[in-house]
Amino acid sequence: MYQHFFILRNATTRFMICLLCIHVVLVYCLLNCFLTEQGHCGACRRKWRLTDTDLCPCGETQTMSHIVESCPLTKLNGGLS
Ligand SMILES: [Zn+2]
Repeated sequence: MYQHFFILRNATTRFMICLLCIHVVLVYCLLNCFLTEQGHCGACRRKWRLTDTDLCPCGETQTMSHIVESCPLTKLNGGLS
């Protein structure tokens, strides 16, 4: 029954966390990054002054939509729809 749960514990609290719930939360967080165009892409990292370039390894400007829709290295067939 508890095979999908693990215990997170610190000095005062103890949580039983469902791995399936964490997976769903992480997927929604990742989808939200793509839908809001805010995530760890070259354009955002440059905007946040974490890097000097916004270029993707393919040579185009790397935005979240570029990663999913048009980059020959990473695009998803069918996009996010
Ligand atoms: Zn690219």
